[in-house]
Amino acid sequence: MCGIVAYVGSRRAYPILIKGLQRLEYRGYDSAGIGLIENNKIVTYKKDGKVNDLISFIGDSSTDGTIGIGHTRWATHGPPNQINSHPHSSSNGKFSLIHNGIIENYLTLKIALEKKGHVFISDTDSEVLIHLIEDVYNSLEKKSSSNNDLLYQAIIIALNEVIGAYAIVILEQGNTQEIFAARKGSPLVIGIGNEEYFVASDASPIIEFTNKVIYLNDGEVAKLNKNEDVIVKTIENKIKSPYVQELEQTLESIEKGGYDHFMLKEIFEQPKSIIDTLRGRINPKTNDIILGGIIDHESRILSADRIIIIACGTSWHSGLIGEYLIEDLARINVEVEYASEFRYKNPILTKKDVVIAISQSGETADTLAALELAKEKGALTLGICNVVGSSITRTTSGGTYTHAGPEIGVASTKAFTTQVTVLTLIALRLSQLKSTVERNNYDFLIKELRLVPQKIEKLLLQNDMIKEIALKFYKATNFLYLGRGVNFPVALEGALKLKEISYIHAEGYPAAEMKHGPIALIDDEMPIVVIANRKDNYEKVVSNIQEVKARGGKLIAIVTEGDQEVKSLADYCIEIPKCFREISPLLTIIPLQLLSYHIALLRECNVDQPRNLAKSVTVE
Ligand code: GLU
Repeated sequence: MCGIVAYVGSRRAYPILIKGLQRLEYRGYDSAGIGLIENNKIVTYKKDGKVNDLISFIGDSSTDGTIGIGHTRWATHGPPNQINSHPHSSSNGKFSLIHNGIIENYLTLKIALEKKGHVFISDTDSEVLIHLIEDVYNSLEKKSSSNNDLLYQAIIIALNEVIGAYAIVILEQGNTQEIFAARKGSPLVIGIGNEEYFVASDASPIIEFTNKVIYLNDGEVAKLNKNEDVIVKTIENKIKSPYVQELEQTLESIEKGGYDHFMLKEIFEQPKSIIDTLRGRINPKTNDIILGGIIDHESRILSADRIIIIACGTSWHSGLIGEYLIEDLARINVEVEYASEFRYKNPILTKKDVVIAISQSGETADTLAALELAKEKGALTLGICNVVGSSITRTTSGGTYTHAGPEIGVASTKAFTTQVTVLTLIALRLSQLKSTVERNNYDFLIKELRLVPQKIEKLLLQNDMIKEIALKFYKATNFLYLGRGVNFPVALEGALKLKEISYIHAEGYPAAEMKHGPIALIDDEMPIVVIANRKDNYEKVVSNIQEVKARGGKLIAIVTEGDQEVKSLADYCIEIPKCFREISPLLTIIPLQLLSYHIALLRECNVDQPRNLAKSVTVE
């Protein structure tokens, strides 16, 4: 959601900003803009639409500065048009700002500033912030004899008046040496080069130039002067010594590597990403599971009253699978909550609760806020995240990385399967500690889990066949996805994938629930995807399939290799390799991801950047 990129140094800033914005495109946005300092003046270019539209709009205009800021906007306040695009300027044009997040008290601030004579040209909350900073700056300037660090001070003072979330970067006219960056609630990374600094919403625009980074913490404001070390202060005006980390990410990991789309690349990467998730976590001799970030908390988890999983979107679906697995294997009570609901429902939480947050980016605003609440109430908080060093990983007491590698496609694929892999490991580990699963079965499950990457490889060979099925159904207007037990959340996830990237209305249902409503939708136009895994309430699912067929619905079934019964009923079948019920979601989801991908392509949709969606949802 929204991309920020900024540069100060001695290279030309423009290509760095544009390439950086393109690397951040996956986050989802609706307009883009850049600001550069040329001949000591701030030059701003902005345009609704994609970064390519901005490039054409800029054309041959001059773009020579060695300092600049770039932004892709995901509109929250005011429609996505040129005026509302970022950067936004102060009244006198002396300062320019890019902002990710929401200034919740913008209206109060705006009214107060208007009374002082400020005139606003956009509908955004962001413009209010740069006017506020200008206002503070002007009053400091009147009182002060020197201009030294006046802007830095003004930013700090102004941010104390702000309620909401922000990641901001600010340029000052005439100042080609430094940029200022601050964050609260929205992510921001600083890259340290040789007498140059980069700033971005995540590391992807930076890794090409340097692997030395600082993740700014909430409430911190950085001064980045290309000739000096980084200075970080809190908004309480206290100096902080920043922690410089070395990134392990590579450039290849964020490029398409010969695939037409990131989503397809990421679907095909799943065997490897699951190997990475499992790596070093199962003792090859004893089959014992070691989860480094959780080990210290195991006794507290075992004595917990319940585990509450909080998440949004796809991560919520993996949480539901986690619920089935942990309850079934480890016999611990689990509840799964939408983070956005949980945080506002005055939840009953005690020190005896364990809260696990799941988020690919580790920056999901609602999940982060729900975690803070859980912490306040004394619950143990753990995270399952993909992005190393992200906010959730820093907020929680422990947790587990999924190690999926960068996921660029907005529709989550490998993040989902690696989250489910981690949850399976957690469920198995707890079952081992509680002796709730017989040793033989435990060993079988571990063996099965290890075989998943191989089985996914096999499944991926059906890609062309799935494309053929997509050809039959890509014009449909509604889809129903049905599953039972641990595959019910897979049905939800399959439906979500289709909705997200093809804009076809799709719903996931527990197969038996179909009779309580959705069955009314079924006619001979309606495709119904049923997960009919041999090991999972198979006979019951077969009855549900009969009910669909009796009403003329078109049936696409995900069946176990060698299945005959469902095959004789279904219009199309996709076979998954034989596997245990507990492991099956890791396989049944693969054909559903591919089906959505091909349908979206046939409908000429933008698979990697679906309309209106953002990858890392940093506003609530
Ligand atoms: N709230 C700001 C706006 O609507 C920033 C949105 C964003 O994060 O892109 O312009």
